[in-house]
Amino acid sequence: MVSAENRQRRGPACGRRYLCTTIGNKSSLSNAYRQEIEVEQSFLAWLKGRVRGLPQVAIGIGDDAAILDLQPDHQLVATTDSIIDQVDFLADRHLAADIGFKAMAINLSDIAAMGGRPTAALVTLALPAIKATETAAAVYEGILEAAETYQVAIAGGDLSVHDGPLSVTITLLGQVPTGGAWLRSGAREGDCLIVSGPIGGSLQGRHLRPTPRLDLVAALRGEVEVHAAIDISDGFSLDLDRLCAASGVGAEVEPESIPIHLDAVARAQESGRTPLEHALGDGEDFELILALSPQDWKKFAARGRELGMVRVGQFIGRTGLWSREGRGLKRMLASGYIHGQRRDPAAPQASSQGTAAPAQPRTAVETEGQS
Ligand SMILES: [Mg+2]
Repeated sequence: MVSAENRQRRGPACGRRYLCTTIGNKSSLSNAYRQEIEVEQSFLAWLKGRVRGLPQVAIGIGDDAAILDLQPDHQLVATTDSIIDQVDFLADRHLAADIGFKAMAINLSDIAAMGGRPTAALVTLALPAIKATETAAAVYEGILEAAETYQVAIAGGDLSVHDGPLSVTITLLGQVPTGGAWLRSGAREGDCLIVSGPIGGSLQGRHLRPTPRLDLVAALRGEVEVHAAIDISDGFSLDLDRLCAASGVGAEVEPESIPIHLDAVARAQESGRTPLEHALGDGEDFELILALSPQDWKKFAARGRELGMVRVGQFIGRTGLWSREGRGLKRMLASGYIHGQRRDPAAPQASSQGTAAPAQPRTAVETEGQS
């Protein structure tokens, strides 16, 4: 006899067939609708047995909508991100649990970038018809692992079966002290430019299991005033450029201070590009870029270094990205992944590990006159 626990581990309703729901005449549509409801009901029963109740969720899965409690003097912070087969991952190559974990982690990273604390996730899966329920359960293994690790409740979501690719959409909710969110727009001239850890080469495998820097939020909150922050999803230089644009400042980067991940060194051996170029443009590092006043950085630097934080330059009044080369400054072009450009997961550069083929143009350092 299969115990309830084993049945849960194996996933819901294994072996049942669910068909494509989207195309057909009226009667097949209603049939498909019934099938979808069946998938949803059996799956929800399984899921309810797996999710943990957390105090922040007053009403979770099972009603028309979830009800969450907010702490007094806090604001809701909300973000959403989708990842899709053949664009952001390869369903036939990557573990479903890794895909689920990544979908959670990229959203958690956005909450960290806002200086928030995550509370609950809403999870929407669009499932290919073949083995729909098994796929949902496998993806959920990673989602639940991340939820457990970062104390996030699964408060609800949606499942649908279609004749398209697997996609995982997560809406993540969290809270920040009222008025205390870290925005992209607050960097000031003279602020220290800080990166929270080594960057580059995430395609070596790290991109599937990123560590959202929620630990930094806990460590920095109440200790220093973070003027601005952004997480590195598309590439250090590209995300720094976004932060600078939002703040109306520029940045002067000291290339020799950039903490280059060993994965960037490994990738450079095959790519013909330098480890620094990988660090500046690869993306999916999910470290944070932060702006702190020099006084705050001085105060926090010792603890910051323990957390992986490194000062890599400063924000300046002159707009644009600049690289400090000796006594001069050279213009640094932002490089990284631009959304809307298709990532080709099967491209040779990304062969065995997965997603992003490098977007064009890669890091180019263009000489300009001294500032
Ligand atoms: Mg972000």
